[in-house]
Amino acid sequence: MDPIRIAIVGMGKIARDQHLPAIAGNRAFGLAATVSPHDPGVEGVPHFAGLDDLLASGPAVDAVALCTPPQVRHDLASSALARGIHVFLEKPPGATLGEVAALQAQADKVGASLFAAWHSRFAAGVAPARAWLAERTIERVTITWREDVRVWHPGQAWIWEPGGLGVFDPGINALSIVTHILPRPIFLRGAKLEIPANRVAPIAADMTFSDTGGAALHMDLDWRQTGPQSWDIVVETDAGTLKLSQGGAVLTLPTGTDHAEDHEYPALYARFATLIRTGRSDVDVAPLRLVADAFLRGTRVTTNPFVD
Ligand code: NAP
Repeated sequence: MDPIRIAIVGMGKIARDQHLPAIAGNRAFGLAATVSPHDPGVEGVPHFAGLDDLLASGPAVDAVALCTPPQVRHDLASSALARGIHVFLEKPPGATLGEVAALQAQADKVGASLFAAWHSRFAAGVAPARAWLAERTIERVTITWREDVRVWHPGQAWIWEPGGLGVFDPGINALSIVTHILPRPIFLRGAKLEIPANRVAPIAADMTFSDTGGAALHMDLDWRQTGPQSWDIVVETDAGTLKLSQGGAVLTLPTGTDHAEDHEYPALYARFATLIRTGRSDVDVAPLRLVADAFLRGTRVTTNPFVD
């Protein structure tokens, strides 16, 4: 079978750290081009400043991986889908729920695959956590996602702008795991968003949710954490406590702790290849809907200005 000719669009941190090696390590794909306004690209691979340039005069591509900030992703995805090109959307899948729904309808119409990728769902502990929780009664869930924005997002202006999500950019990873491992749907009860006086996006959020069985969830999300960082989800059940730590990489059950190798992006590309080969899409907006609900229903509190 011929490799799927793929272009990476948006050659920033995640494209270089994860997408390039994952594509190089998967024989189902061949890197056909890169697109980025300012990045020089990869030696030996055709490079274009914009997607329109690639589509007008570049090599043929079967798929694109959109690794840009979310605010520009809809138009890029729509241009690709209009030509029947399969689309991999980095998380979050868009800046609004409506634009993602429009892309899904477009993909269905043209028969192309659309993949809203949630990389944290492919962290090593997540699939076994989901399997273990399927048989349990959930009593309480505590999510602690505290990291230092200056370490993880230095100089990323887009993340503080409308549609950039602020602290929900990492927080949505926790929500992608929780919505995947819990046996019942969850919904927002309340949220307090702390927004720096000089920004429009939150730097911290305190949120409560319920599942449809009545279990209470609490989420503590903060970008001002210096020192040790926390990416932990604790689920108390009728059969003891489950803990996912290090963003889902480490799973602790009452029987012990398991730490497997990281394979998030190789697993995402394996999934994308399967979707393309079988003519399907995978677009779950549940994590983005919870974030949208926090903006709809949350209380806003102004906090100290944030300077990079
Ligand atoms: P980033 O380092 O700021 O990179 C984004 C890149 O997008 C920029 O380098 C920019 O390229 C390019 N770009 C902007 N507008 C474009 C356009 N119209 N056409 C083509 N390229 C365009 O951001 P990032 O950290 O990689 O994050 C990108 C996305 O991946 C975000 O949604 C983020 O949530 C997600 N993600 C990030 C991480 C992470 O650890 N950083 C992890 C998982 C997922 P130029 O520099 O050439 O202008």
